[in-house]
Amino acid sequence: MSLRDIETRFIHALSLHRRKKHRVHQDLTKAHELYQISTMSVLMEGLYDGHTTYEKLAEHGNFGLGTFNSLDGEMIAFDGSFYQILADGKARLVEPSMKTPFAVVIFFEPDIQLDLPNRMPWHEFEILLKQVAPSHLVFYAIRLEGTFEYIKLRNVTRQQEPYAPLGDIVKTFPVLELRHVKGTMVGFRCPDYSSGINVPGYHLHFLDEERETGGHVMTCTANGVRLQIDHTFNLRMEIPEMFVFDEQARRQPPGEGQRGTAGR
Ligand code: ZN
Repeated sequence: MSLRDIETRFIHALSLHRRKKHRVHQDLTKAHELYQISTMSVLMEGLYDGHTTYEKLAEHGNFGLGTFNSLDGEMIAFDGSFYQILADGKARLVEPSMKTPFAVVIFFEPDIQLDLPNRMPWHEFEILLKQVAPSHLVFYAIRLEGTFEYIKLRNVTRQQEPYAPLGDIVKTFPVLELRHVKGTMVGFRCPDYSSGINVPGYHLHFLDEERETGGHVMTCTANGVRLQIDHTFNLRMEIPEMFVFDEQARRQPPGEGQRGTAGR
């Protein structure tokens, strides 16, 4: 596919979205928006307990990623199914009553689809993505499906209170390497200006074809993979109210006032 073809596809995709937007006015419940619980900077501070259930989250999207209360695993969602990937990389279906302190979801409607060349290392994939998804202003949802020659994953480990900031514990999370594995990669490319709110650049999670093993993607080499991309101009973000109580409690010296425990 030439660069010209790719640009034409992107322009076509933009016009499709304008038409979708027109439809949105008639049906607000289907608004094409990226829906986010909390922010990356709040998660980095160590606020690992939210009050949003996965049942509620699923009302805002069928595709995305995130984590669980107490950082008990990486979340990946696609085709309407939500999975929890534990520290050892083992996956299981999410119970609707489970809660999340950070998640990003969308109703995925890809407007660009193409097959990647064989043996495509991550740095080449990034170059291609810059052509297929050229805007620095919009949020892109990305799905990769097929065979991966190599994937390096990292998975969060369940934390005990008092929670340490994410930056202090990230190096303790186990790393997992997979070779010649089939599966699905799901995630987003967020603009640089979203720093603090989300992860600028790529954030992808992986789950194998058997729905048994996966995690947060650090790098990969694709080898026979189909790429699908959706994009949106709309971001809706909700900060869990209980985080404000947590924040106030942290600022108070010990013994002065009660720690907010709503929703625990
Ligand atoms: Zn992640």
